[in-house]
Amino acid sequence: MAVEKTLMILPGDGIGPEAMAEVKKLIGWINENTDLTINTEEGLIGGASYDEFGNPFDDSTLERARAADAIMLGAVGGPKWDGVEYNLRPEAGLLKLRKELDLFANLRPALVFDALIDASTLKPDIIRGLDILIVRELVGGVYFGEPRGIEDLGNGERRGVNTQVYTTSEIQRIGRVAFDLARKRAGKVTSCEKANVMESGKLWREEITTLHAAEFSDVNLEHMYADNCAMQLVRAPKQFDVIITDNLFGDLLSDAAAMLTGSLGMLPSASLGAPYTPGLYEPVHGSAPDIAGQGKANPLATILSFAMCLRYSFDRANLATRIENAVQAVLNDGTRTADIMADNCHEVSTSGMGDALLAAL
Ligand code: NAD
Repeated sequence: MAVEKTLMILPGDGIGPEAMAEVKKLIGWINENTDLTINTEEGLIGGASYDEFGNPFDDSTLERARAADAIMLGAVGGPKWDGVEYNLRPEAGLLKLRKELDLFANLRPALVFDALIDASTLKPDIIRGLDILIVRELVGGVYFGEPRGIEDLGNGERRGVNTQVYTTSEIQRIGRVAFDLARKRAGKVTSCEKANVMESGKLWREEITTLHAAEFSDVNLEHMYADNCAMQLVRAPKQFDVIITDNLFGDLLSDAAAMLTGSLGMLPSASLGAPYTPGLYEPVHGSAPDIAGQGKANPLATILSFAMCLRYSFDRANLATRIENAVQAVLNDGTRTADIMADNCHEVSTSGMGDALLAAL
C-alpha cells in the first residue's frame, strides 16, 4: 500500500549541502519507483541558520522538525563562525535539536565493505564481514550529571567535578532499543560498563539483567567491562553484534569501532527518541571546510544515514538494503571519491558518486 512520509532536511554548512544533494537524488528515485512517497521540507541549522536568524537553530525550524516523521542532517560548523560566542556557535544548534527531541539512543554501525577492506589499519581477516552496531546513551550520564564545575579551593588548588548518574528508567529505555535492534540482527547484546569500580555501572548491569529476563530472554545477553570491550574491539571485533553502553564509554567505544572500517566519509549514524517521535540521521563526519564547494566530498556517509532512516523511521528495511547493496556494487566497481581512492579505481566527484548509485539502483 502506498505510504507517505515527511522528511525534514537540514543540510547545514560546508559539505553538508553537497552531500545532501545526492540524498535528494535518491529521494527522487524512491518517489518515482516505489510505493513510498517522501515529502521533503528544508530548514537551516548551524552557521547557515546563524547568518539568517542570529541563532544556530531557530524555534520555528525546530517545530517543523518536530512535526516531521524523520530528520536528515548534513553537518554544521566552519571557521567562518569561530569567533561567535559559545552558545550561538553552529554546534550548539545540533545540541539543541538532540536535546529538544530527547534523542537518547545514538546508533553507530561499524560495517566493513569488502572493497574498502584495505582502508582499515587492521588485518583483513580480523574485519572481513564485520557488522557491529553500537547503541550509546546520548542524553544522560557524566556529560550532563550534577554537580559539575570547577571550584577554587583557595589554597592554590582547584577541583574539577563531573557526576556519572543513571536511573532505572534511563537504563531501561536505552536497553529496550538495544534488545529490539538485536532481535532484527544476529540476536546478541553485549552490555558494557564498569560495574567492578562504579556504583552507576553496578546499577546499569542489574537493570539490564532485569529487563532482559522480563522482556527479552530470547536475545543472547553478555556483560563486559568497558575497558575489556575496547581491547576486544581491536582484537576480535566480529564477536560483537549489538553493543550497548552509556554516554561516556559509548563516545569512546563508538569512535574505536568506527575506525575499524577506516574511513570517515563512510560512517552513518542515527539518533532515536521515544516511539513515534522523529529520528535524526546524520553522517559522523563534520562540515569538512577544507574541501567544501569543490565536489570532493564523499556523500556515502550521508546516503548510508538516509538508508538508516528508511530502515528505522520509515520501516522500509528492503529499501535500505537496496541502497546499501548499491553502495557495495558501486565500490566493487572501483568507483571512488578522493578520500577512499585506491589503485586501479576511478575517481569521481560528489555528484558522480550519487549518479553511479542511481545507475546501480
Ligand atoms: P571533519 O569531519 O569535518 O573533517 C575531518 C577531515 O576529514 C577533513 O580533512 C575532511 O576533509 C575529511 N572529511 C570529512 N568528511 C569527509 C567526506 N564526507 N568526504 C571526504 N573527506 C571528508 O572534522 P573537523 O575538520 O574536525 O571539523 C570541521 C568542522 O565540522 C568544525 O567546525 C567542527 O566543529 C564541525 N563538526 C561538525 C560535526 C557535525 O555536524 N555533526 C561533527 C564533527 C565536526
